[in-house]
Amino acid sequence: MRARTEPSKPAQNMNPPMDSSTLQPPPEHLAPYSEQIDALIESGRVFWNRGWSVGTSSNYSAVVARDPLTLLVTASGKHKGQLTRSDFVLCDANGQPTLPDQPKSSAETLLHCLAAEDPTVGAVLHTHSVWSTILSDRFAPQGGILLEGYEMLKGLRGVTTHQHREWLPIFENTQDIPELAQRVRAASADGDRPFPHGYIIRRHGIYTWGQDVAEAFRQIEILEFLLECVARSATM
Ligand SMILES: [Zn+2]
Repeated sequence: MRARTEPSKPAQNMNPPMDSSTLQPPPEHLAPYSEQIDALIESGRVFWNRGWSVGTSSNYSAVVARDPLTLLVTASGKHKGQLTRSDFVLCDANGQPTLPDQPKSSAETLLHCLAAEDPTVGAVLHTHSVWSTILSDRFAPQGGILLEGYEMLKGLRGVTTHQHREWLPIFENTQDIPELAQRVRAASADGDRPFPHGYIIRRHGIYTWGQDVAEAFRQIEILEFLLECVARSATM
């Protein structure tokens, strides 16, 4: 007797939605921040397509108020290519939710809060790319990666020449985010080795920031490009 076969099921939703018109409106408490939410959702789609934010990895935020500091942060455990307008949490300067009944924010929220302490920062983006993961391991003994001589460095905020020397420090990974935030804070206070555009966590990913989502997005693109150049040239 012929085995009964189940009708084939459509593949699970493997691709991000095509545009914001397919998304439901945000919940009421997030409605004032629709523009930033859509910019972060779009960032997730692009980063997912480029392989920099696969699965539920990565997290993104935007500053929505300065006094007191309030951030819109991606909720924990959400697929970054398929974010919806409900997948965001309002947090205070300590990473605590500012309203009840919100989803849990990303485990790394404190790193966003730390970057956002700079009053010129309006958005923080974090990716888990292959190249940053590989290079962070290779360069860990040096404590960071020095990027210099690349025309694309001029895509970083305030950089006007390829002769710029960009230092990307590498911090050991941990699940103790408050402890990691302390190490990043201590390193950023060291005036000898500033890292105004970002840093890397070993075998984990990149953090960068900008005055708004668009600028932080550009900086992720530039840093990912430069790291890929370093990695590929090392294998030639
Ligand atoms: Zn991460």
